[in-house]
Amino acid sequence: MRSSADSMSILAACDRYANMKFLADAMLGKLAKWLRMLGYDTVYIPDADDDDLVRIAIREDRILLTRDTLLCARRMVRRRCVFVDWGTTGEQVRQVMRDLDLKLSRDSLFTRCCVCNGEIVPIDKAEIADRVPPYVYKTQSEFGYCANCDKIYWRGTHVEHVLKALSPD
Ligand SMILES: [Zn+2]
Repeated sequence: MRSSADSMSILAACDRYANMKFLADAMLGKLAKWLRMLGYDTVYIPDADDDDLVRIAIREDRILLTRDTLLCARRMVRRRCVFVDWGTTGEQVRQVMRDLDLKLSRDSLFTRCCVCNGEIVPIDKAEIADRVPPYVYKTQSEFGYCANCDKIYWRGTHVEHVLKALSPD
């Protein structure tokens, strides 16, 4: 599962390596959230069954992330599947990045909504003055909103928190 040859075949199966997209199984909701924070388009449908997951992974050209060895072994998704080890969410994120040779990009952090997977669009600070706590408004300069669910984001401390959680102990 972890050999570089396998990683290469996974990469080959993915049309756009730079824009790698994911699909997380029901066990991996937190991992999905984290991958979104890193800027990866990650679909998470907790009630999808195995057949649904296989269908969506192929149709939408996504890498399937799963804790299910049988699902991983299915011929249709074998080459676009990562078996995620048991561990903390931080460890799981690091494993996925290592297995797929992904590099952490500061610029990609918080470009995608961790709640709904929508794209975060930059917004002028003045426009959200009444939608964030006064302290945040005073101390932060870059803001964005989710084009899908309208949640407001600011980079600031979130970015440091994510980078710290992902740096090896
Ligand atoms: Zn959203």
